[in-house]
Amino acid sequence: MRYETVIGLEVHVELATKSKIFCSCSAHSYGAEPNEHVCPACCGMPGMLPIVNKRVVDYGMKAGLMLNCDINRTTTFDKKSYYYPDLPAAYQTTQWFAPVAVNGLVEIETSKGKKGIRIKQIHMEEDAGKLVHDIREDTTHVDFNRTSVPLIEIVSQPDLSSAEEVEAYLERLKTLLRYAKVAECEMAHGTMRCDVNLSIRPEGSSKLGVRTEMKNMNSIEAIKRAIEYEIARHIDALENGTEVLVQETRRWDDIKGKSFSMRTKETAGDYRYFPDPNVMPVVIDDAWFESIKASLPEFPEVKRERYITEYGLGEYDAEQITKSIALCECFEDAFAVCKSAKDAANWMISEVMSILNARKMTYDMLDLDGKKLGELILLVSDGKVGRANAKKILGAMFEDRDIEPAAYAEANGYVMSSDMGKVEEVVKAVLASDTKAVADYKGGKEKALMALFGRCMKELRGNCDPQALKTILVETIAKL
Ligand code: ZN
Ligand code: MN
Repeated sequence: MRYETVIGLEVHVELATKSKIFCSCSAHSYGAEPNEHVCPACCGMPGMLPIVNKRVVDYGMKAGLMLNCDINRTTTFDKKSYYYPDLPAAYQTTQWFAPVAVNGLVEIETSKGKKGIRIKQIHMEEDAGKLVHDIREDTTHVDFNRTSVPLIEIVSQPDLSSAEEVEAYLERLKTLLRYAKVAECEMAHGTMRCDVNLSIRPEGSSKLGVRTEMKNMNSIEAIKRAIEYEIARHIDALENGTEVLVQETRRWDDIKGKSFSMRTKETAGDYRYFPDPNVMPVVIDDAWFESIKASLPEFPEVKRERYITEYGLGEYDAEQITKSIALCECFEDAFAVCKSAKDAANWMISEVMSILNARKMTYDMLDLDGKKLGELILLVSDGKVGRANAKKILGAMFEDRDIEPAAYAEANGYVMSSDMGKVEEVVKAVLASDTKAVADYKGGKEKALMALFGRCMKELRGNCDPQALKTILVETIAKL
């Protein structure tokens, strides 16, 4: 029998706000001591009142609009009750009855073409703390730095049907949320986490099979492996009766390459959702709504089209640069200074992106001042710095954002020599020192000229226009 896979995703994304969702503690505890960024509110002490961080609602709305959702203009918070040591209040403040965004649509593209994935809802909620297990001491410590760090949970409809589609969907979410600058979405940093709800059914059947939820995948690759494993497990159970499938939550173990039962799946009723009386409903008035709408970025496809039609870039170049908002911004700033979209795109793709690739950095990690890149491009196109030396300057600019290309070129001897007298002197000295190469060239060996050219360029430290050097070289040999 042939089967089809039905997948829905719950994606938790950490919002890039400075402070937590209901208090003013820092939301960023990287490098901090355990329990450094905590206060009575985020530790769930009795009597503390939460105050909604407006920026969280801004970002929640932005995310909703990027994913084509309707925004609930009155959005409310609810308590989700469960007990776990990393949740001091024994309930999570989340949204159940009126989440910030509903009914969205995200378009993905795979080898099978384009497909729309419906978004059921996006809700805002607080994160839980972290349990740190110490094997030597045989104890478990609790770190509350992460409690109340703002999250959005993006819940899709069960519209996905393969690991390839899941990957395309997650990449699309990442791109859109990064364009809007609401989140980092880096699975390796835990700022994007994904739970997979999966079931299978005979092809063409409209009845859903038994659904399992999988957690604990730390990369897109792990998610793909987990999905393939789970599909095979479900089919094996149905075809060969190896086990009875039950609705449950399973933990993926990427080292063992297997999923393990964690607990039978809770239903919404188990969580006893009820409106949180401590958090006032958030009413989004027209002015607020419109200001968020106006702050949305150009969508990647719109940008790509504009780069092609307005800036005259080729389709490939436009596609490459619009992969990341960080690349787009660097390119646009460089273009504004050097005034040549072609040069700016060329430097972005053949130099900037290859440095990022070589350093195994993501495009979003680019931290280069685009205006300074534009200045560097101008130095090259004005014939002030040779291309090879310009690359060295760019490498230095990656290390230090404060480097001014022109001053740096000057200080490091990367300025092209306009003193042709000096070039002639170097050429004469090189020719005098290698009479064999000169004779070889005169005897018809073209390669000998390239060797002489290379030696002259080295002597000049790359600071000479190659065409001018070649002309002087050929003319000087002719006079010998
Ligand atoms: Zn706090
Ligand atoms: Mn959640």
